Amino acid sequence: MGRVYNFSAGPAVLPEEVLREAADEMMDYQGTGMSVMEMSHRSKAYDEIIKGAEADLRELMGIPDNYKVLFLQGGASQQFAMIPMNLMKNRSADYIITGQWAKKAAQEAEKYGKVNRIASSEDQTFSYIPDCSDLPVSEDADYVYICENNTIYGTKFQTLPDTKGKTLVADVSSCFLSEPIDVAKYGIVYGGVQKNIGPAGVVIVIIREDLITEDVLPGTPTMLTYKTHADAKSLYNTPPAYGIYICGKVFKWLKKMGGLKVMKERNEKKAKLLYDFLDQSKLFKGTVAAKDRSLMNVPFVTGDADLDAKFVKEAKAAGLENLKGHRSVGGMRASIYNAMPYEGVEALVAFMKKFEEENL
Ligand code: PMP
Repeated sequence: MGRVYNFSAGPAVLPEEVLREAADEMMDYQGTGMSVMEMSHRSKAYDEIIKGAEADLRELMGIPDNYKVLFLQGGASQQFAMIPMNLMKNRSADYIITGQWAKKAAQEAEKYGKVNRIASSEDQTFSYIPDCSDLPVSEDADYVYICENNTIYGTKFQTLPDTKGKTLVADVSSCFLSEPIDVAKYGIVYGGVQKNIGPAGVVIVIIREDLITEDVLPGTPTMLTYKTHADAKSLYNTPPAYGIYICGKVFKWLKKMGGLKVMKERNEKKAKLLYDFLDQSKLFKGTVAAKDRSLMNVPFVTGDADLDAKFVKEAKAAGLENLKGHRSVGGMRASIYNAMPYEGVEALVAFMKKFEEENL
């Protein structure tokens, strides 16, 4: 069929089953005589799609009743502004800087209030997660912000920071639905879906109800006010309708696979295969502190930029695509999201072994 193993960080691999189903339904979605792309977002058929997607996500994540699920647009990057605009009542927030995405979020928030960078791992190129057990949380902070999984650097918070009672806001774009989480520990959990859930264009925001208010910063656009979307159940305007439909299919696939606990076990098994190989390799090495390793994004290097480039090129020729590291760090990165099968990681490790033998 010509499919490759796609290690892209996002947009990224989706379950083949979901793609096939979507293809089958393309011309005629369940007897409606049209594709979901062509359907009114106010139609009965679409109402079932969006409500079903929300119900399945709630079940998968065990989302408490006092949280709303919003399907929005604008990418995760738009949340960098929307969060302060809606939450910065005191015009102050604490940010933990563990990579470019947290850094960008903090820079954006700075347009709206005081940003306190209470911890950072920039001193060692974001190769670890700082100790967040006793942070200097600001008394007037409206929230504490983290990027839970750092897509570019391949680190993840293994335990959540102690926010000393402040609302925790987390960008989970690159670890969304990769393992169970306790939603009740967060005020907002959000992410773009284009890594682990669906096509680009959808952002899912899971937000505690008390954080949804009319009391937003002056000048906040209607479209950037959480209350607008919460009141309208994500149908204030035309939502990214087709993308939400695909997300809904992925939620069903995850349920069929056994849910998030099973996904975590699968993800751990896949990541272990790759990390174990890296740990004993004489050519390749991982770039982050072992204790903070991500299950989703695995960066590695040979230490020689020319050899890295050769590896990426030859891997592509062998059907292993998108292994080039982020343009800001170089080297390689294998993103092994939920939809990457174990066989994909096996194929990658086998290729790395062969490359090592040929190039050492
Ligand atoms: N946060 C994280 C953790 C990311 O990995 C990315 C994108 N790759 C973003 C935010 C930005 O997402 P978007 O392109 O949807 O704005």
